[in-house]
Amino acid sequence: MSDMHDWGVSETARQLRSKAVSSVEVTMALLARAQANEALGSFLHLDVEGALAQAKQADAQLSAGAQGRLLGVALAHKDVFVTTGMPTTAGSQMLAGYQSPFNATVVQRLADAGAISLGKLNCDEFAMGSGNENSAYGPVRNPWDTTRVPGGSSGGSAAAVAARLIPAATGTDTGGSIRQPASFCGITGIKPTYGLCSRYGMVAFASSLDQAGAMARTAEDCAWLLSAMAGPDIDRDATSLDVPARDYAAAIAVPRAGATADKPLHGLRVGLPKEFFGEGVSPDVQTAVQSALQQLTALGAVLVDITLPRTELSIPVYYIIAPAEASSNLSRFDGVRYGHRAAEYGDLIDMYQKTRSEGFGDEVKRRILMGAYVLSHGYYDAYYLKAQKIRRLIANDFQSAFQSCDVIAGPVAPTVAWRLGEKANDPVANYLADIFTLSSSLAGLPGMSVPAGFGEGGMPVGLQLVGNYLKEDELLQTAHQFQQMTSWHDAMPKEFSV
Ligand code: GLN
Repeated sequence: MSDMHDWGVSETARQLRSKAVSSVEVTMALLARAQANEALGSFLHLDVEGALAQAKQADAQLSAGAQGRLLGVALAHKDVFVTTGMPTTAGSQMLAGYQSPFNATVVQRLADAGAISLGKLNCDEFAMGSGNENSAYGPVRNPWDTTRVPGGSSGGSAAAVAARLIPAATGTDTGGSIRQPASFCGITGIKPTYGLCSRYGMVAFASSLDQAGAMARTAEDCAWLLSAMAGPDIDRDATSLDVPARDYAAAIAVPRAGATADKPLHGLRVGLPKEFFGEGVSPDVQTAVQSALQQLTALGAVLVDITLPRTELSIPVYYIIAPAEASSNLSRFDGVRYGHRAAEYGDLIDMYQKTRSEGFGDEVKRRILMGAYVLSHGYYDAYYLKAQKIRRLIANDFQSAFQSCDVIAGPVAPTVAWRLGEKANDPVANYLADIFTLSSSLAGLPGMSVPAGFGEGGMPVGLQLVGNYLKEDELLQTAHQFQQMTSWHDAMPKEFSV
């Protein structure tokens, strides 16, 4: 049973049900593996006792014949989800030592489905970043090359799944933070339609964009997680969609109309935005994405040329709206209600100033300043209001595109993972790398990253799939069929292949 860590979610569940192993055995093996690979930086907190207690309970329930698809399966949470019994930092010094009195809805739903939580995963501070270098607790390393970034902001989640420390993890995506690290680490990730998963208990970054999602090795495993995570929570999150929870794993197993065994994607129209294939995309990423598109056609899909003419504008629009919302959301960290407070101060204003200067890192401060600026009297109309108008046009462009296609495909990011430190002091270089994920976030559409090959330096390349609102089933099915035909998602980083 030395390969337990390589099972993935559905295989672990199958093994547990057949009583080949117990949840305690799997959980112990994964905890040991996480401890042995601490240098990766992916875990901020490992809850050894809590995880073993949960596993024991799961074993008792399994022996009593309890069902529950995720019963006894271990996973871990991005540290922006609040959790009882474990600290929550959001990667910030500001929340050092913070302990939530309640669980985020997503965390609670996964626990209710029987999943075991091993701990909390590193991320960029308040989920602001594309390389996980903005965490106050140190960077995460990419398991494929530990001198490179894992992507961000859900870098701890992606690295831990890729290194087989856990079969799956939660993540959050405001402008690409599930899809881009999934792509950089060679795993599968889904950011659902805005509002499909409750934001209750997610430390807020940009509330009109923040969305929780699943990160795992395969689309099928993501479907298992999403089925437990999704569903209305209207009393606690007013933007939660009133859409009943679905069984996405069952949905992907239902064949498309007209599908045959060798053409499971028969008739699927895959739109290729010309703006996603132009200059700026490195040749290795182009090659991997092009060959993935050929595979989709071999499965019966038809490729259609489309245009998303405002793609370039998504960067300035996002980097106005997200900081604006962040500057408002982060005003609650004042040294009174949560986390850090400066040790010495004069009056109240001095306490706020010292607390916030000490508690927030550079990137967070930069965003608060940008956000306060674009919202300020005299600049509001010129920046914030204009950005909101363009956001609407970007969403409209997608609806025009979906007239002629069912899913949109392209690269997740212009390059493979860069080296640690390479862009650490260059915020604009980080922002530009988000070009292909921001527009669908601004539109609130679901998107995925699916392993599609390797590029420069042997680093993974992801294929991005974007669907129309609430088409998670179609996205997951497309990715699942692609994974039936390819084995990129099975590849394991060498250093971690034991
Ligand atoms: N890289 C983007 C940013 O820095 C997206 C982050 C995210 O999705 N949380 O804001």
